[in-house]
Amino acid sequence: MDRYSWAEPVVEEVHPGIHRIPLPLPNDGLRAVNVYAIEQPGGLVLVDAGWSVPESERQLEMLLGQLGAGLGDVKRFLVTHVHRDHYTQAVALRRRFGATIALGRGEQPALERLLNTGALPAREHRARGLRQLGAAALADELEQRIQDNPDSPGVWEMPDEWIDGEVDVPLATTTLRALPTPGHTPGHVVFHDPAERLLFAGDHVLPTITPSIGLTTDPGPLPLGAFLTSLRMVRTMPDARLLPAHGPVTDSVHARVDELLEHHAERLDAAVAAVTAGADTAYQVARALPWTRRARPFDDLDVFNRMLATSETAAHLDLLVAQGRLREQRIDDVIHVAEA
Ligand SMILES: [Zn+2]
Repeated sequence: MDRYSWAEPVVEEVHPGIHRIPLPLPNDGLRAVNVYAIEQPGGLVLVDAGWSVPESERQLEMLLGQLGAGLGDVKRFLVTHVHRDHYTQAVALRRRFGATIALGRGEQPALERLLNTGALPAREHRARGLRQLGAAALADELEQRIQDNPDSPGVWEMPDEWIDGEVDVPLATTTLRALPTPGHTPGHVVFHDPAERLLFAGDHVLPTITPSIGLTTDPGPLPLGAFLTSLRMVRTMPDARLLPAHGPVTDSVHARVDELLEHHAERLDAAVAAVTAGADTAYQVARALPWTRRARPFDDLDVFNRMLATSETAAHLDLLVAQGRLREQRIDDVIHVAEA
């Protein structure tokens, strides 16, 4: 089967009354984002919403039509995290149709920065962060892109409801349990349906790729440590079918969590080995490591993926410092690492 067949514009009923709806993204790195429509008396609940671009809205309208519904039938959005491929279409549809939006409380600082209420704008903030990781050339490229295409205003607004801690989300047909899973973003939540043995996993557990860590607005301290803790938390719950935001539905959350934990243990070891061999900033360690499942050299990646790789590596180094396996030192506002 084609590796990307899950991304084709087809509705898949993954459970009676629950439909996976893949929506297109303006950049094709991830192929598509899955939103899940849960049928309720009087309308639909959507887990995640898609990226607010015209082709995504057209496809959502077309695929909801196959369920005998329209955009106005979505009454409520449960959004796993604040990234634009999950959140922004909820904002756009709420303006026209009045649905409500729920989002994890931990996303509030990022949203405040995106709404730029007194904070340094998000992309400038990220460029500054890259300089601290020894990636001045990447920061220059990013700042050039900020000048070339300023951020489109108006796609960000606050949700109607903050999900605070572990809470029940009662629906007419079932009760979902919202569980904070910080890591990919600080306010990421998953929605567990223990009765039906389903996990709406957002980007916390993805079946074919490892979720990015650290490449987000205000990732918080030790995002990788938080992510691994969140993975172990999910591993202690009864196993469920994995309903991911990117990729096909699979049978076991546990099986994939085990692979992700092993992957990060290997990457942590590889980062220590790179430091032992002489790399001393996140940027240098990132350049010493292989990337993607095809083990590509860092310099072959495009600028977005080099940023992602650098932030990801910084998240690994921060955790290694916290674990006492490495030590760090700030010189001229650049973070250097060395063997402990
Ligand atoms: Zn995503």
